[in-house]
Formats: sequence, C-alpha cells, structure tokens
Amino acid sequence: MAGTGSKPKVNRRPEPAAGRARCGLCGKTGKLMKTECCGQWICDDEDEYVIFSYARNSCHRNHRRLTLCGYHHAEEHKGDWRNCKQCREGFETEMYIWYGTNEYNFVKLENPPAYEPTRCSMCHRVIKLAEEAFSTQGGNYFCEECTAQEISRRSTEPRRM
Ligand SMILES: [Zn+2]
Ligand SMILES: [Zn+2]
Ligand SMILES: [Zn+2]
Ligand SMILES: [Zn+2]
Repeated sequence: MAGTGSKPKVNRRPEPAAGRARCGLCGKTGKLMKTECCGQWICDDEDEYVIFSYARNSCHRNHRRLTLCGYHHAEEHKGDWRNCKQCREGFETEMYIWYGTNEYNFVKLENPPAYEPTRCSMCHRVIKLAEEAFSTQGGNYFCEECTAQEISRRSTEPRRM
C-alpha cells in the first residue's frame, strides 16, 4: 500500500473574532449589549418580548429572569452567585439547580447539590418543576394531569338550578 490515501487536511480557521461580538447564549451577532450582572455579550432583544406572553425568546430577559446570575444581581447579593448562600436558600433545591444550570447561563453551577425529585402526591410521577405545570396545596405537589382531573371533576359535579 502506498500512502494512506488521506487528503491534505484543511485547517479550519476559527471564526474571525475581531470586532464581531456574539451573544454568549444563542451566538447571534445582531444587536448586542452587555449583561449588567456578569458583563457578557447578549442579544439586546428585550423590547421584542411581548408582555405576559411568557415566551422565552429573549436572551437578555431569560438570563435576567431565569438564572441565579440575574437573580443574584437583581437582589444585590454580594460576591459570586455560585458561592452565594442567599441564592441557595432562596429556592427549592430543584429550582436552584435549574436556575444555575439551564441554557440561559454563560457559566453553569459546578457540582450542583443532590436532591430528591418532586413527585405528584396523587399519581407519584416525577414532576419537573422548571418545565411542567403543576399545582401545590398544603405542601403537596400535583402534576398537570392530576390537577386538570381534579378541576374537571369539580366542574362536572351536578349543579342545582
Ligand atoms: Zn442571543
Ligand atoms: Zn449574568
Ligand atoms: Zn445571591
Ligand atoms: Zn399526578
């Protein structure tokens, strides 16, 4: 066998970084700003957000509202959010971890603490608090389906005219 048959490798150059900042979350190069909390480039897109839509399409809003970094800054805690006791105590462990490790973070929480998953008190299914709808009553959690069943059960009870 002569040669290995391999073609000369094309050395891909890294994207030209000069003067072309990108949003640290979605990578877009459009209208950018720096976050107040951690000084990272992020889409300056909060004005596109429709009030009460609860859409998660604004990088800036997501980082500000859905991360410990944003919360820590808004609450004027001291020091680094990753070592912040007030942040840790401010949330249930599951939500604390989610806020610290979701896709809206530039830097994620290292070694997140272990936690017991939350289960529905009726069907005992695990509820992902950050992603699913649920209801609570007296310290119990109910998944979306059980909540809906309960509501429809109540609303279909015969009414007296
Ligand atoms: Zn973005
Ligand atoms: Zn931040
Ligand atoms: Zn904090
Ligand atoms: Zn359930």
